[in-house]
Amino acid sequence: MKSYRKELWFHIPTRRAFVNITPQVVECLKESGIKEGLLLCNAMHITASVFINDDESGLHHDYEAWLEKLAPHEPVSGYRHNVGEDNADAHMKRQIMGREVVVAVTEGKLDFGTWERIFYGEFDGRRKKRVLVKIIGD
Ligand code: ZN
Repeated sequence: MKSYRKELWFHIPTRRAFVNITPQVVECLKESGIKEGLLLCNAMHITASVFINDDESGLHHDYEAWLEKLAPHEPVSGYRHNVGEDNADAHMKRQIMGREVVVAVTEGKLDFGTWERIFYGEFDGRRKKRVLVKIIGD
């Protein structure tokens, strides 16, 4: 069995954003040479997510509005976590959108449903953060 590991780095200039990272993950899969197996992709920070959904800008806008309703950034003083920091909402947004995805690898490709793409969800950006890609198989 082969094993592959890589860290992808992101530096999002805004507090929040959704980035389609499918091309970078596909590049990892090619580099691994693995044809049959499993791919794990996870955010290595507790204020960022990796999730799978549609690459559609209206939906991403809807996510942003929905998350802001569930865990509004302001008022910052409304959270106990925000003693010396202001990212309690980002921890909660990450919790909702998830830490990782697992995708089957079949015949050297990500075995996606029709509209599935992998996204990095940033909720407390403006600094460098990592995403782990781990692939196992043959
Ligand atoms: Zn925090």
